[in-house]
Amino acid sequence: MLRLTSDKKIDIMVSTNTPSARCSDGDTVVFETLDCYDCSVTRQGERLNIERMHNPATGPLFIEGAMPGDALKVDIIKIETRDWGAMGTSFGEFAFKSIQGSDHSMHVYDIKDGFVEACGHRIPVNNMIGVIGVAPAGEGVLTVTPGAHGGNMDCRRIREGASIYFPVAAEGALLAMGDLHALMGDGEVFGYGLEVSGEVTVKVSVIKNMQLEQPLLIDKGEAMCIASGETMEDAAEKALTSMYRLLRRCGQDEADAGILMSMVCDVALCQMVNPLFTVRAAMPQEMLKSML
Ligand code: CA
Ligand code: CA
Repeated sequence: MLRLTSDKKIDIMVSTNTPSARCSDGDTVVFETLDCYDCSVTRQGERLNIERMHNPATGPLFIEGAMPGDALKVDIIKIETRDWGAMGTSFGEFAFKSIQGSDHSMHVYDIKDGFVEACGHRIPVNNMIGVIGVAPAGEGVLTVTPGAHGGNMDCRRIREGASIYFPVAAEGALLAMGDLHALMGDGEVFGYGLEVSGEVTVKVSVIKNMQLEQPLLIDKGEAMCIASGETMEDAAEKALTSMYRLLRRCGQDEADAGILMSMVCDVALCQMVNPLFTVRAAMPQEMLKSML
Protein backbone atom coordinates (compact mmCIF):
# COMPACT_ATOMS: atom_id res chain seq x y z
CA MET A 1 0.00 0.00 0.00
CA LEU A 2 1.27 3.48 -0.86
CA ARG A 3 2.42 5.42 2.22
CA LEU A 4 3.10 9.17 2.29
CA THR A 5 5.56 9.96 5.05
CA SER A 6 5.23 13.11 7.12
CA ASP A 7 8.51 14.60 5.89
CA LYS A 8 6.62 15.25 2.62
CA LYS A 9 4.69 18.20 4.00
CA ILE A 10 3.32 21.49 2.76
CA ASP A 11 2.00 24.68 4.36
CA ILE A 12 0.18 25.91 1.24
CA MET A 13 -2.27 24.17 -1.04
CA VAL A 14 -1.59 25.31 -4.60
CA SER A 15 -1.76 23.79 -8.08
CA THR A 16 1.97 24.37 -8.63
CA ASN A 17 3.03 22.13 -5.71
CA THR A 18 5.17 19.20 -6.79
CA PRO A 19 3.36 15.94 -5.97
CA SER A 20 4.95 13.85 -3.20
CA ALA A 21 3.51 10.69 -4.74
CA ARG A 22 1.14 9.47 -7.43
CA CYS A 23 -1.60 6.87 -7.28
CA SER A 24 -4.40 5.46 -9.40
CA ASP A 25 -8.11 6.11 -9.14
CA GLY A 26 -9.49 3.68 -6.53
CA ASP A 27 -6.23 3.19 -4.62
CA THR A 28 -5.97 2.97 -0.84
CA VAL A 29 -3.25 5.23 0.59
CA VAL A 30 -1.82 5.95 4.04
CA PHE A 31 -0.94 9.53 5.04
CA GLU A 32 1.39 9.88 8.04
CA THR A 33 0.72 13.28 9.60
CA LEU A 34 2.44 15.60 12.08
CA ASP A 35 0.42 17.58 14.60
CA CYS A 36 -0.41 21.28 14.06
CA TYR A 37 2.66 22.26 16.09
CA ASP A 38 4.87 20.41 13.57
CA CYS A 39 5.51 18.03 16.47
CA SER A 40 7.52 20.69 18.34
CA VAL A 41 5.81 19.90 21.68
CA THR A 42 7.12 17.12 23.91
CA ARG A 43 5.02 14.71 25.89
CA GLN A 44 5.95 16.78 28.94
CA GLY A 45 4.34 19.82 27.33
CA GLU A 46 7.63 21.57 26.54
CA ARG A 47 7.80 23.63 23.37
CA LEU A 48 11.05 22.75 21.60
CA ASN A 49 12.90 25.67 20.12
CA ILE A 50 12.94 24.42 16.55
CA GLU A 51 12.05 25.97 13.22
CA ARG A 52 8.52 24.78 12.64
CA MET A 53 5.95 24.76 9.91
CA HIS A 54 2.53 26.11 10.83
CA ASN A 55 -0.21 23.48 10.51
CA PRO A 56 1.65 21.12 8.16
CA ALA A 57 -0.27 18.86 5.78
CA THR A 58 1.21 15.70 4.32
CA GLY A 59 1.27 15.46 0.54
CA PRO A 60 0.24 16.42 -1.99
CA LEU A 61 -0.91 13.20 -3.64
CA PHE A 62 -1.50 13.24 -7.41
CA ILE A 63 -4.45 11.02 -8.35
CA GLU A 64 -4.26 9.84 -11.96
CA GLY A 65 -7.29 10.80 -14.01
CA ALA A 66 -8.57 13.59 -11.74
CA MET A 67 -9.30 16.68 -13.86
CA PRO A 68 -10.87 20.07 -13.19
CA GLY A 69 -14.66 19.69 -13.13
CA ASP A 70 -14.49 16.25 -11.50
CA ALA A 71 -14.91 15.51 -7.82
CA LEU A 72 -12.42 13.61 -5.69
CA LYS A 73 -14.08 11.25 -3.23
CA VAL A 74 -12.01 10.42 -0.15
CA ASP A 75 -13.26 7.54 2.00
CA ILE A 76 -11.73 7.82 5.48
CA ILE A 77 -11.12 4.19 6.34
CA LYS A 78 -9.00 4.52 9.44
CA ILE A 79 -7.49 7.20 11.71
CA GLU A 80 -4.83 6.15 14.20
CA THR A 81 -3.07 8.57 16.54
CA ARG A 82 -0.25 8.58 19.05
CA ASP A 83 -1.23 7.98 22.67
CA TRP A 84 -1.16 11.60 23.87
CA GLY A 85 -2.48 14.92 22.69
CA ALA A 86 -1.52 18.56 23.30
CA MET A 87 -3.56 21.73 23.57
CA GLY A 88 -2.44 25.30 24.17
CA THR A 89 -4.73 27.78 25.93
CA SER A 90 -5.79 30.99 24.18
CA PHE A 91 -7.33 33.44 26.63
CA GLY A 92 -7.88 36.95 25.33
CA GLU A 93 -8.66 35.86 21.76
CA PHE A 94 -11.08 33.82 19.69
CA ALA A 95 -14.14 32.91 21.78
CA PHE A 96 -12.49 34.21 24.95
CA LYS A 97 -11.77 37.78 23.86
CA SER A 98 -13.39 39.11 27.01
CA ILE A 99 -11.78 36.58 29.34
CA GLN A 100 -8.23 37.40 30.38
CA GLY A 101 -6.95 34.11 31.81
CA SER A 102 -3.48 33.86 33.29
CA ASP A 103 -2.73 30.40 31.86
CA HIS A 104 -0.96 30.52 28.50
CA SER A 105 0.67 27.11 28.69
CA MET A 106 0.62 23.81 26.83
CA HIS A 107 -1.48 21.02 28.32
CA VAL A 108 -0.88 17.35 27.53
CA TYR A 109 -3.32 14.47 28.05
CA ASP A 110 -2.99 10.70 27.70
CA ILE A 111 -5.13 8.81 25.21
CA LYS A 112 -5.75 5.23 26.26
CA ASP A 113 -8.22 2.52 25.19
CA GLY A 114 -10.22 5.03 23.19
CA PHE A 115 -10.59 7.57 25.98
CA VAL A 116 -8.94 10.85 26.94
CA GLU A 117 -8.36 11.50 30.64
CA ALA A 118 -8.69 15.25 31.08
CA CYS A 119 -9.69 17.72 33.79
CA GLY A 120 -11.31 15.07 35.96
CA HIS A 121 -13.25 13.46 33.11
CA ARG A 122 -12.92 10.39 30.91
CA ILE A 123 -14.00 11.38 27.41
CA PRO A 124 -14.41 9.01 24.42
CA VAL A 125 -12.09 10.02 21.55
CA ASN A 126 -13.46 11.31 18.25
CA ASN A 127 -10.46 11.17 15.94
CA MET A 128 -10.93 13.72 13.16
CA ILE A 129 -8.98 15.44 10.41
CA GLY A 130 -8.58 19.22 10.85
CA VAL A 131 -6.91 19.92 7.48
CA ILE A 132 -7.86 18.02 4.35
CA GLY A 133 -8.20 19.35 0.85
CA VAL A 134 -7.06 19.62 -2.73
CA ALA A 135 -5.31 22.36 -4.70
CA PRO A 136 -7.67 25.34 -5.05
CA ALA A 137 -8.53 27.13 -8.26
CA GLY A 138 -6.28 30.17 -8.74
CA GLU A 139 -3.97 31.35 -5.99
CA GLY A 140 -2.66 29.06 -3.30
CA VAL A 141 -4.24 28.94 0.17
CA LEU A 142 -2.20 28.44 3.34
CA THR A 143 -2.98 25.30 5.35
CA VAL A 144 -4.22 27.49 8.23
CA THR A 145 -7.12 28.71 6.07
CA PRO A 146 -10.26 26.86 4.92
CA GLY A 147 -12.05 27.36 1.60
CA ALA A 148 -13.95 25.76 -1.26
CA HIS A 149 -10.96 23.44 -1.74
CA GLY A 150 -11.23 22.16 1.86
CA GLY A 151 -8.14 23.02 3.91
CA ASN A 152 -8.37 23.96 7.60
CA MET A 153 -12.11 23.28 7.97
CA ASP A 154 -11.79 21.80 11.48
CA CYS A 155 -15.05 19.90 11.18
CA ARG A 156 -15.43 17.17 13.79
CA ARG A 157 -17.58 15.11 11.42
CA ILE A 158 -14.56 14.54 9.10
CA ARG A 159 -13.70 11.31 10.86
CA GLU A 160 -13.28 7.57 10.47
CA GLY A 161 -16.11 6.08 8.42
CA ALA A 162 -16.96 9.38 6.72
CA SER A 163 -16.50 10.18 3.03
CA ILE A 164 -15.75 13.63 1.68
CA TYR A 165 -16.01 14.92 -1.89
CA PHE A 166 -13.88 17.84 -3.08
CA PRO A 167 -14.21 19.91 -6.25
CA VAL A 168 -11.11 19.16 -8.35
CA ALA A 169 -9.49 22.38 -9.64
CA ALA A 170 -6.07 21.09 -10.77
CA GLU A 171 -4.99 18.02 -12.69
CA GLY A 172 -4.34 15.18 -10.23
CA ALA A 173 -6.39 16.95 -7.52
CA LEU A 174 -3.30 17.19 -5.23
CA LEU A 175 -4.78 15.84 -2.01
CA ALA A 176 -3.10 16.72 1.29
CA MET A 177 -4.08 16.34 4.93
CA GLY A 178 -2.89 16.84 8.52
CA ASP A 179 -3.83 18.50 11.81
CA LEU A 180 -5.51 15.48 13.39
CA HIS A 181 -7.51 15.97 16.60
CA ALA A 182 -8.40 13.22 19.07
CA LEU A 183 -11.14 15.54 20.33
CA MET A 184 -12.57 18.88 19.24
CA GLY A 185 -15.90 20.48 19.97
CA ASP A 186 -17.87 22.54 17.45
CA GLY A 187 -16.32 26.02 17.42
CA GLU A 188 -12.83 24.87 18.44
CA VAL A 189 -13.07 27.62 21.01
CA PHE A 190 -9.46 27.75 22.22
CA GLY A 191 -8.17 27.66 18.64
CA TYR A 192 -6.96 24.09 19.12
CA GLY A 193 -8.39 20.63 19.36
CA LEU A 194 -6.58 17.89 21.27
CA GLU A 195 -3.73 17.95 18.76
CA VAL A 196 -2.16 14.65 17.73
CA SER A 197 0.13 13.18 15.11
CA GLY A 198 -0.98 9.95 13.50
CA GLU A 199 -1.84 8.25 10.28
CA VAL A 200 -4.90 8.20 8.08
CA THR A 201 -5.87 5.43 5.66
CA VAL A 202 -8.04 6.64 2.79
CA LYS A 203 -9.42 5.35 -0.48
CA VAL A 204 -9.41 7.93 -3.29
CA SER A 205 -11.87 7.81 -6.18
CA VAL A 206 -12.36 10.17 -9.11
CA ILE A 207 -16.00 10.99 -9.78
CA LYS A 208 -16.31 12.26 -13.33
CA ASN A 209 -18.26 15.45 -14.07
CA MET A 210 -19.57 15.94 -10.53
CA GLN A 211 -19.47 19.72 -10.23
CA LEU A 212 -19.28 20.85 -6.62
CA GLU A 213 -19.01 24.36 -5.22
CA GLN A 214 -17.90 23.28 -1.76
CA PRO A 215 -16.74 20.11 -0.02
CA LEU A 216 -19.56 17.60 0.50
CA LEU A 217 -19.25 15.35 3.53
CA ILE A 218 -21.12 12.11 4.21
CA ASP A 219 -21.15 10.89 7.82
CA LYS A 220 -23.56 8.69 9.71
CA GLY A 221 -26.49 9.04 7.32
CA GLU A 222 -26.11 12.79 6.79
CA ALA A 223 -24.87 14.72 3.75
CA MET A 224 -23.23 18.04 4.66
CA CYS A 225 -22.13 21.02 2.57
CA ILE A 226 -19.16 22.64 4.32
CA ALA A 227 -18.46 26.29 3.53
CA SER A 228 -16.20 29.04 4.85
CA GLY A 229 -16.60 32.81 4.87
CA GLU A 230 -15.56 36.11 6.43
CA THR A 231 -18.47 35.87 8.89
CA MET A 232 -20.54 32.99 10.27
CA GLU A 233 -23.54 34.36 8.34
CA ASP A 234 -21.55 34.38 5.11
CA ALA A 235 -20.35 30.81 5.70
CA ALA A 236 -23.86 29.60 6.59
CA GLU A 237 -25.38 31.22 3.52
CA LYS A 238 -22.76 29.59 1.27
CA ALA A 239 -23.32 26.16 2.85
CA LEU A 240 -27.10 26.47 2.54
CA THR A 241 -26.94 27.76 -1.04
CA SER A 242 -24.72 24.83 -2.00
CA MET A 243 -27.14 22.39 -0.39
CA TYR A 244 -30.08 23.99 -2.19
CA ARG A 245 -28.32 23.62 -5.56
CA LEU A 246 -27.52 19.97 -4.85
CA LEU A 247 -31.18 19.26 -4.02
CA ARG A 248 -32.23 20.95 -7.26
CA ARG A 249 -29.79 18.74 -9.15
CA CYS A 250 -31.37 15.76 -7.40
CA GLY A 251 -34.66 16.71 -9.05
CA GLN A 252 -36.42 18.82 -6.41
CA ASP A 253 -38.24 21.86 -7.79
CA GLU A 254 -37.45 25.31 -6.42
CA ALA A 255 -40.10 25.36 -3.71
CA ASP A 256 -39.64 21.75 -2.60
CA ALA A 257 -35.86 22.09 -2.28
CA GLY A 258 -36.33 25.05 0.07
CA ILE A 259 -39.23 23.46 1.93
CA LEU A 260 -37.25 20.28 2.64
CA MET A 261 -34.34 22.34 3.89
CA SER A 262 -36.56 24.44 6.10
CA MET A 263 -38.00 21.25 7.53
CA VAL A 264 -34.86 19.20 8.22
CA CYS A 265 -31.60 20.99 7.34
CA ASP A 266 -29.35 21.35 10.41
CA VAL A 267 -26.74 24.10 10.42
CA ALA A 268 -23.75 23.84 12.73
CA LEU A 269 -20.57 25.74 13.37
CA CYS A 270 -17.37 23.83 12.57
CA GLN A 271 -14.84 26.39 13.76
CA MET A 272 -14.69 30.11 14.64
CA VAL A 273 -10.92 30.50 15.11
CA ASN A 274 -9.33 30.30 11.65
CA PRO A 275 -8.88 33.19 9.16
CA LEU A 276 -12.37 32.31 7.82
CA PHE A 277 -15.34 30.84 9.72
CA THR A 278 -16.56 27.37 8.72
CA VAL A 279 -20.15 26.12 8.87
CA ARG A 280 -21.83 22.89 7.76
CA ALA A 281 -25.39 22.37 6.53
CA ALA A 282 -26.67 18.80 6.95
CA MET A 283 -29.52 16.94 5.26
CA PRO A 284 -30.48 13.28 5.46
CA GLN A 285 -28.15 11.50 3.01
CA GLU A 286 -31.12 9.67 1.52
CA MET A 287 -32.46 12.97 0.11
CA LEU A 288 -29.36 13.30 -2.10
CA LYS A 289 -29.12 9.63 -3.02
CA SER A 290 -29.59 10.22 -6.75
CA MET A 291 -26.18 11.94 -6.91
CA LEU A 292 -24.24 9.93 -4.34
CA1 CA B 1 -7.05 23.29 12.44
CA1 CA C 1 -5.56 21.81 15.12
